[in-house]
Amino acid sequence: MRVIALVDNAFGSTPKPMHFTNYKHCDECKEHDDTLTSQTRVSISREHLGSMGWDPITFADAEGIAYYFPALVRFALRPAIGEREWYAVQLLWHLTYDADANKLFRGFDACQRQAVYDFLAHLAASRERELDDHLVKDQIESAFKLWKQA
Ligand SMILES: [Zn+2]
Repeated sequence: MRVIALVDNAFGSTPKPMHFTNYKHCDECKEHDDTLTSQTRVSISREHLGSMGWDPITFADAEGIAYYFPALVRFALRPAIGEREWYAVQLLWHLTYDADANKLFRGFDACQRQAVYDFLAHLAASRERELDDHLVKDQIESAFKLWKQA
């Protein structure tokens, strides 16, 4: 798929950082760091990415999220797996949290921002019904507003 290739091209050269979170801060930061350091963008599973209430990506900085971004996009383009919610719901939250101060928007370079925008356009065009069913139409509108500044 074209959008996967665009995302791989923009994020594929991002190295895996030594740490992803402020791991000395508390047990939760440490546990999320352990999850992300123990996997790669190839090995990480939907289970590792948790839920809205327990989400290692929430605790990661932009550099670490850039490393995992190709995997995050792949999960978002798949239907819900097992007990877990459709990953696009979590990813849209990460792409819109804090509006203009969004850490991914601030941390990603111009090429990466453009790839995020292209991913959002693909998601909106190909998953209209799913976005409606998961009540995230407003989130994708907010995401477009932010990432079109790419
Ligand atoms: Zn902490």
